[in-house]
Parts: sequence; C-alpha cells; structure tokens
Amino acid sequence: MIPAPFEYERAGSVDHAVELLAGDDAKLLAGGQSLIPVLRLRFARPATLVDVGRLDDLRYVREDGDRIAIGALTRHAELVRDPVLARHCAVIPHAAAHIGDPQVRHRGTIGGSVAHADPAGDLGTVLLTLDAELVARGPGGERTIPASEFFTGPFQTALASQEMLTEIRVPAVEAGTYLKLARRSADWATVGVAAARVDGRVQVGLTSMGMTPLRARGVEESLAGGASAADAAARTGEGTDPPGDVSASSEYRAHLAGVLVRRALEQL
Ligand SMILES: Cc1cc2nc3c(=O)[nH]c(=O)nc-3n(C[C@H](O)[C@H](O)[C@H](O)COP(=O)(O)OP(=O)(O)OC[C@H]3O[C@@H](n4cnc5c(N)ncnc54)[C@H](O)[C@@H]3O)c2cc1C
Repeated sequence: MIPAPFEYERAGSVDHAVELLAGDDAKLLAGGQSLIPVLRLRFARPATLVDVGRLDDLRYVREDGDRIAIGALTRHAELVRDPVLARHCAVIPHAAAHIGDPQVRHRGTIGGSVAHADPAGDLGTVLLTLDAELVARGPGGERTIPASEFFTGPFQTALASQEMLTEIRVPAVEAGTYLKLARRSADWATVGVAAARVDGRVQVGLTSMGMTPLRARGVEESLAGGASAADAAARTGEGTDPPGDVSASSEYRAHLAGVLVRRALEQL
C-alpha cells in the first residue's frame, strides 16, 4: 500500500529534530526499517516525518569511563563489526548479527530499534539484560532513562512524543551471548535469550516471551544461589507470558526459552 500523505523535513542537528518534533503529529525517521512498513500499512499516519538518518555525529561507539557509549544512529552492521564492542561487550554485536538480513542491518539503527519497542526485537532485550541507560533529548533538555523503565508496553516506551533518543550506555561485560531461534532465515525471534556476566553476576533477558523484553529474574536468583545452569533454567518461565501465534504456541515458546537459557548459561 502507499503511505498516507505526509510532510518531509530533514533535521540538521538533534536540536533541530527536537524543534521539528514540536509540530503537529511529527515522527522521527531513522533507518526506516520499521517505520516505512508501518506507514505503508497505514498503521501510522504522521503529518510530518522528521528525517534524522543523516545525523552522522550520532553514529559512534566509544569508551566513556566505565561505560561504553553508543550513538543512537549507529547501524546494526556497525555494531556487528565494532572493535570496542567486540572487546568489551560482544553480546551486542552477537545479537545485532542476528537481525534481519544485510539490507536491514545496513539501514536499521540501534536507536530506532529500541524506540520501536517491538516485543520480538533483539536489541531491546540485550539492553535490558545489561541494565543499559538510554539518553533522550527533548525541549526541556536531556534525561537518562534506565532500560528497566524504558519499555512500557508493546511498541510503547517512556519517550515523550517530543523526545529523541541520542545515546545508549552499557557496561563492559566479562562474557555474553545471544541465542535466537527463528522459523525462517532473517526472521524475528520465536524466542531470543541474552545472557551476560556483569561484575561477576549473571544477568539474563528474554525476547518474545511477553509484551516487552523481560528479565529472567528467577534464573538470575538461582544462579546467584549457586544453582547449575540446568536447575536455574528450570525457572525461565517465571514472570513470563509467552504469546501464541502463527510462529509458535505459548507452550512451545515456554519450552524453547528454557532450552535456550540453559544453552546460553553453558556458553558463558
Ligand atoms: C525484513 C525485516 C526484518 C527484520 N528483522 C528483525 C529482527 O530479526 N530483529 C530485530 O530486532 N529487528 C528486525 N527488524 C527491525 C529492524 O531492526 C529495524 O531496523 C529497527 O526496528 C528500527 O530501526 P530504524 O533505524 O530502521 O528505525 P525507523 O524505522 O526509522 O523508526 C522506528 C521507530 O522508532 C522511532 N525512532 C527512530 N529513531 C529514533 C530516535 N533516535 N529517537 C526516538 N525515536 C526514534 C521512529 O519514529 C519510529 O517510530 C527487521 C526489519 C525488517 C524490515
């Protein structure tokens, strides 16, 4: 389908983008890999698209004290081959490498991915698992949102309509992995599992096991108490609400998540 008519504005800076967002019913366009399909289906009909895709100063990965700072416009393919992430936070490139196909990875951005907040999205789960901080700029200035407060529902986040995500901050991790099972190559996760060792603790997150990315708190608790990977993985289902759909039944997802959690823990 053809999108409903919209005005197009190209932002020259973050401040300019925030200014343009103040207009009636405006929406940011980054890599377009989620928004364009949504427009074509007419699920969204913004009056104005504010294109931030050329703000190259938001495409970076750098060490910043004890954190790693990632610009919101950094593309999935750039995450995959980044040397700082490879050395200090390989769970991010590992997950990014599983996203869609090369075309999607060369256009899609980490900021767009988490702002879109698809419950089947891979990077949101990784950021939640790492207790990332998300930096947003709005008309009132900058604020930092913990990942635990960012995802408020399916396709919903704590971002206000006039805010733009500018940076994501993650800790360096000692080890990390992302396992994903999809029905077809380049597809969204039937279930995805992120696991990382952060400051000696193991943190685990789940994709497609509820309406938002989830932490597997029962698994984490068991591991902290000295349980084996298999015993801890038996608590994967706690606090989850796996959907049933054309890809998998709810029961299959629950079983699969336990298997993937055990495998992920064995890899750490
Ligand atoms: C064929 C296909 C397969 C895919 N497979 C996967 C997959 O396996 N796993 C996965 O996780 N994803 C998958 N995706 C989605 C992909 O990761 C997108 O790149 C991502 O979801 C959105 O990033 P984007 O930069 O393209 O954002 P856009 O599509 O430009 O924007 C998405 C939303 O985020 C908002 N937004 C964008 N940037 C910002 C910002 N900086 N601040 C605030 N709001 C912002 C936009 O207004 C819009 O609402 C797939 C997409 C396609 C088309």
